[in-house]
Amino acid sequence: MELAKSCVDIWIRSFGSCSLLQPLWDSLRLNYKDYLRSPLFPVALTVSSYFVFCLPFLACDIMGDKWVWIQQFKIQPSRRPTASSMLHCASVTLYNHMFLVLPASVAQWVWRPPVDLPDQAPSLLDLLSGVLGNLLLFDFQYYIWHLLHHKIRWLYVTFHAIHHQYSSPFALATQCLSGWELITVGFWTTLNPIILKSHLLTTWAFMVFHVYVSIEDHCGYDFPWSTTHLFPCGIYGGASKHDVHHQKPNTNFAPHFSHWDIVFGTHSGSFPSSSEKDKDNSS
Ligand SMILES: [Zn+2]
Ligand SMILES: [Zn+2]
Repeated sequence: MELAKSCVDIWIRSFGSCSLLQPLWDSLRLNYKDYLRSPLFPVALTVSSYFVFCLPFLACDIMGDKWVWIQQFKIQPSRRPTASSMLHCASVTLYNHMFLVLPASVAQWVWRPPVDLPDQAPSLLDLLSGVLGNLLLFDFQYYIWHLLHHKIRWLYVTFHAIHHQYSSPFALATQCLSGWELITVGFWTTLNPIILKSHLLTTWAFMVFHVYVSIEDHCGYDFPWSTTHLFPCGIYGGASKHDVHHQKPNTNFAPHFSHWDIVFGTHSGSFPSSSEKDKDNSS
């Protein structure tokens, strides 16, 4: 009993104190201050994370049957992305980055003053709860946006249909988005840490984690180590549930968690039969 109590005390002291992340934060702010203060830093961080996180999934798709062990985790094993679908998504992503993300970044760089770096690091507990809070807030915002862009035909056709070109998603399909969708996602990812008064380190951790889980949602594989399996009771949807959304577009509107879909009756945990798919595609 005494041992358990002292273990809990040590856990709370370590995770709740600033000291755990302070050496990392000090080394970052003292050695890379000018880069970190630049308004361009969050953009560079998220864009580079996107391409780095896509690479392993891309390798799994390219290697295909040569990596038999990996292929057992493929959600739709009979459907593999073709070279032309990968090239299409890569070209949409590059177009959006050239003509939207880059000009927006330069505008921020010119108009926004460099941010101040606080002396103190967040505690590990603050960082983890901040990342989770930001993710939950984004999940709710995107649920509403996504529902409206499926229910209102004009919004769907004009802004969201491009993301539904592929009913068997793959990593590069994550950012196969219209400019409007990319701007909305970027806006919330930037605004939410300000609303929640997150520390800069928490903000960057959230941005990187959000890029990762968005790619994981689309990767087309349900690995035993996927984020879905870190949460109990199927509360985190992840790849398998977002894959269902791409096959059965009137379900699973939340990007990450399942609770809003359960509350509003749009949840589906199963893969559709071919007749259901035909019905959804014709609606
Ligand atoms: Zn998607
Ligand atoms: Zn959709």
